[in-house]
Amino acid sequence: MEIKYKKISILGSTGSIGTQALEVLNEIAHDTKIHYLSAHKNISTLEKQAIQFQPEGIVITDKDSFDKFRDNTKFKGNILFGTEALNNVASDSSNDLLISAIVGFAGVMPAYNAIQNNINLALANKEALVSAGEIISRTAKLNKKEIIPIDSEHSAIFQCLAGESKENIEKIILTASGGPFRKLKKEEFKDITLSQALAHPNWSMGKKITIDSATMMNKGFEVIEALWLFDLNPDQIEVLIHPQSIVHSMVQFKDTSIKAQLGSPDMKLPIAYALTAPDRKFLNIDRIDLAKIGKLTFETPDLEKFKCLSLAFQSLKKKGNSNAILNTANDIAVSLFLENKIHFTHIPLIIENALNQINFIAQPSIEDIISTIEETKKYTLKNYKAIIN
Ligand code: NDP
Ligand code: MG
Repeated sequence: MEIKYKKISILGSTGSIGTQALEVLNEIAHDTKIHYLSAHKNISTLEKQAIQFQPEGIVITDKDSFDKFRDNTKFKGNILFGTEALNNVASDSSNDLLISAIVGFAGVMPAYNAIQNNINLALANKEALVSAGEIISRTAKLNKKEIIPIDSEHSAIFQCLAGESKENIEKIILTASGGPFRKLKKEEFKDITLSQALAHPNWSMGKKITIDSATMMNKGFEVIEALWLFDLNPDQIEVLIHPQSIVHSMVQFKDTSIKAQLGSPDMKLPIAYALTAPDRKFLNIDRIDLAKIGKLTFETPDLEKFKCLSLAFQSLKKKGNSNAILNTANDIAVSLFLENKIHFTHIPLIIENALNQINFIAQPSIEDIISTIEETKKYTLKNYKAIIN
């Protein structure tokens, strides 16, 4: 079996998306060579991947993990350290495709560098488009490169748009499961525990995106991601709660026709489509049984309850460096929540404060975005205790 990309690098290969991307490649792309893989701390998984896939080299971004790996590995390829090495891999024109499956703001520069250097980019790391979407999409347009979505909703839109022209889109409808707290009363949000927030009803994912799904910030990010991926106006993007997670998203055209993409909640499908589009390959994953599911339901999201979603809608309209502030403050707040240092309801408080306090730049350069990220990170870590008290 083969796909059109002969040499692929995966950044964040040890994560939920990264490991599934390797499984998919193993299943559908026997003639494709893995060029580079990257990890942050999970060196035992990286060791196994390096031995199995024999890439040209690997990158590790955490220093202690790098030292340990280098001293103990049986892998004979290049062993590189740090964010500069990560950016070099992202810019390396030997890649036919770069899959970015890093989590958080660490993915911004690799995505920018790939696009800047005309490398095909399949993007799971939505945070890159949230923080620097305007610049990344402008560069992609200049280089006539289409960013290939891996996020399931955006893959759904991408699939619905095959053979369609952009002028005919009236709006897109992003579906959201609503996460574990869809039915919880607003007054009960203050008692939400970490383990409750980590228990997503439909999807098995990395911890950070699981928390983002529970706050619904994930959907806010996906609206911003869709805006840049599909070159739309904010009022052309709608969010609809669909608890069954079977309809992955929809496009409504100007003749009122709506196209939807359906499937089981399994990321292997959007990962595979990113590799084969507009073609498809047989995948050994669950088929959906619509008669068994019986009902597909839809409802509008509650912006009062899900404050993060409403903050994302506000930030999205402001543009400039606002979304980089939103993304970074969220990244820090979610890490603090994962470390049990703040409550669930503190997450939107911290983000709102950062949005109000960090300097707004209307037309940021990529350097402005990077300094906004640094400033927001420092500010949030220094002030979060005062903000939540
Ligand atoms: P995971 O936490 O499972 O994996 C994250 C990956 O990034 C790991 O390889 C990790 O390395 C690496 N990483 C962590 N911190 C850094 C850093 N500072 N610098 C470089 N690399 C780092 O995340 P997911 O796979 O769940 O998510 C990855 C991206 O895909 C996110 O942007 C998420 O929003 C998006 N996404 C995920 C979906 C899912 O189903 N999981 C669905 C749609 C989008 P290590 O493990 O070695 O520490
Ligand atoms: Mg998604």
